[in-house]
Amino acid sequence: MRVSGRKLLAGSGLTAGMSEGSRTTRERITDRLREQPLAVSDIAREFEITAADGLTHVEHIAKSLDSTGEQLLVAPPTCRECGFEEFDDLINRPSRCPECKSESIEEPAFRVE
Ligand SMILES: [Zn+2]
Repeated sequence: MRVSGRKLLAGSGLTAGMSEGSRTTRERITDRLREQPLAVSDIAREFEITAADGLTHVEHIAKSLDSTGEQLLVAPPTCRECGFEEFDDLINRPSRCPECKSESIEEPAFRVE
């Protein structure tokens, strides 16, 4: 999976409100993202949570990393058919490509470094 170095902007209209109960899972997810890029669906499968919960964790990780030297990078979603990657929303997987109308879209992948 190709990963480019776009920094995910913290607080870009995403959810707020820390849940202390999930802190351990979040730390484990952060460790995994230090090892390799993962899509939200990968995180969900590995940690046996829903994709929505996985996305929430990623959003919180992006914010919490602001106080460290690390950052959350996102590889934008990419069309498998034509390679289009200029999607407005870097986080949510688009349903189809605006260029070629393909529904075969590579999920955005996150990593921490
Ligand atoms: Zn396309």
